[in-house]
Amino acid sequence: MKFATLSQLVECCREEGSTIGQLMLSEQGKETGQPVEQIFRQMAEYYEVMKEAVHRGIHEPVPSRSGLTGGDAVRVMDYLGSSMPSLGAEACTALAYALSVSEVNASMGRIIATPTAGSCGIIPGVFVSSQQRLGWEDEQLVMGLFAAGAIGYVIANNSFISGAEGGCQAEVGSAIGMAAGALTELRGGSPEQAVHAVGLALKNSLGLICDPVGGLVEIPCIVRNGFGAVTALAAADMALAGVRSVIPSDEVVEVMLEVGTAMPSKHRETAKGGLAQTPTGKKILKDLYGTSPGNSCNTSSETSEDPGDRK
Ligand code: SF4
Repeated sequence: MKFATLSQLVECCREEGSTIGQLMLSEQGKETGQPVEQIFRQMAEYYEVMKEAVHRGIHEPVPSRSGLTGGDAVRVMDYLGSSMPSLGAEACTALAYALSVSEVNASMGRIIATPTAGSCGIIPGVFVSSQQRLGWEDEQLVMGLFAAGAIGYVIANNSFISGAEGGCQAEVGSAIGMAAGALTELRGGSPEQAVHAVGLALKNSLGLICDPVGGLVEIPCIVRNGFGAVTALAAADMALAGVRSVIPSDEVVEVMLEVGTAMPSKHRETAKGGLAQTPTGKKILKDLYGTSPGNSCNTSSETSEDPGDRK
């Protein structure tokens, strides 16, 4: 890739007169030697999987394999249909869609890891709800996925994108940054504004620990995806309104690395701290396994698909 940082990404777009999505697609073509049409088609297939996952969980409850979670997306959709949500209908829809995809992941259904299975709901929640509201064609959203991929690529190479390495800030936080930057571009923002959206979004999740109850990507992962979708919308709106990340976004990424490196291992996916070790978390663990945790978490779904830059 001809860019390694977010500021270089903006500079490259300026030089080439391209969007972040266009630049990423072209760079992927050069790097893989594949025709860009083929790469685009593959990404379009990923977007189809995202839409299927959104639709699956909003119409009927999708229980997790463990039985601990499921049905929250339907609950939020029902609430949305019968009440005036505090967030407003648009953000509440994004939230419900993000919950849906995360529930599909917890049921071992098919999702796209963006950037990981644990944070798979945020980009689809933001993208699919925005597409419905704004009438975008699929092709625009697919290009948005390339923009999100470019942002994820930079974060992965300068910090981390897995909870085991950097806590939940690295998974859910990165997904929020990717969704916020891509949405800013989809809404007509410049690459510079998109990168400000990334910095604004990442700041809001710095320090978020990874503490999955029972070692499963369910509690608190699913609701964090719902919150993450709403934060991404907010960050995009701030950036489009002209709000800047005063601390440059690349420096925010460096802080994520610093914070994640200093994070104790009990808060990095081991289920040995945080919510996983509350009295209720311990009880759930005992009910599930006796005393020891079960499967590892951040790549929980055996049927997940990874569109690219995953550590
Ligand atoms: S708590 Fe851990 S496993 Fe769950 S989404 Fe966050 S990083 Fe992933």
